[in-house]
Amino acid sequence: MHFMGRTWRPPYEAHSVIIQATSGCTYHKCRFCNLYKDECFRMSPMEEFEEDLEEIKRYQPYARRIFWTGANPFSMSYENLKLRALTVRDYLIKCQTMAMFASIRDIRDKEVWQLKKLRAMGINGLSIGTESGDDETLALAGKGYTAADILAQCRKLDEAGIEYYFVYMTGLAGKGGGHRNAVKSAKLFSQLNPYFISVDSLTLFPGTELYRMALEGTFTPAGEKERLRELQTFMQNLQIRTHLFANSASNFYPVTAYLPKEREAVVSELQYIIDTVSEEEMAAYRRELKRLG
Ligand code: SF4
Repeated sequence: MHFMGRTWRPPYEAHSVIIQATSGCTYHKCRFCNLYKDECFRMSPMEEFEEDLEEIKRYQPYARRIFWTGANPFSMSYENLKLRALTVRDYLIKCQTMAMFASIRDIRDKEVWQLKKLRAMGINGLSIGTESGDDETLALAGKGYTAADILAQCRKLDEAGIEYYFVYMTGLAGKGGGHRNAVKSAKLFSQLNPYFISVDSLTLFPGTELYRMALEGTFTPAGEKERLRELQTFMQNLQIRTHLFANSASNFYPVTAYLPKEREAVVSELQYIIDTVSEEEMAAYRRELKRLG
């Protein structure tokens, strides 16, 4: 298999077959991220892609879901996505879903009719690192799009029938901003249909812009209890039926919830942690974290 650079897939794609469609990121400007810092974006040449498919076919001929790696393979043009999706079907006859990361920016250049065609070819299950639905937080994080962009582009996915997953990041709004971020993000996400929302919590890593800003005093990170209260507020304000996974390593206390059914139970669980664990113990946990997610 032709894996090069950093290969990253979300935890919930652990059962998918992984193939490199792209490597690196087209954007590099999110202020909390150093994942692909030293890598240029690269589309795997078709020759490599087909060699990898040949290898997958030998070992997993009945693979049903494959995950295309890279920070945003969906940035490829419609024609390039189509060529790869059809090629996957040449090799893996049972493959029903080709999932990948996508940015809101990557959806902008695609028409609904193109999205519908891609869906029909098997492209489905886009992991979108929205991080927030609050304009102030999106600008602070350097995401390069607004809440209105999220709404417009994801409505196109809804119309095309493409399933998508959101990421929400607690702590990203900085000290004192968690409540606003949670309320505004929940309000926006409630107008859309994310199949699930995965929650991470901001961890500042050397080499990122937010880390530098924190050192010079222009960004003050939120405390750990503020983040847990932010998560409570986010859940309380979400008005859709969805799954929430706040169980990655960046969450001090891992929880999952099927909303709205389990909302009150999980909010109470978080309250117990807020009431019984010290801020210092939570901060010590974050200081030991070595990776995102
Ligand atoms: S968060 Fe994603 S889009 Fe933003 S710089 Fe990192 S890899 Fe690129």
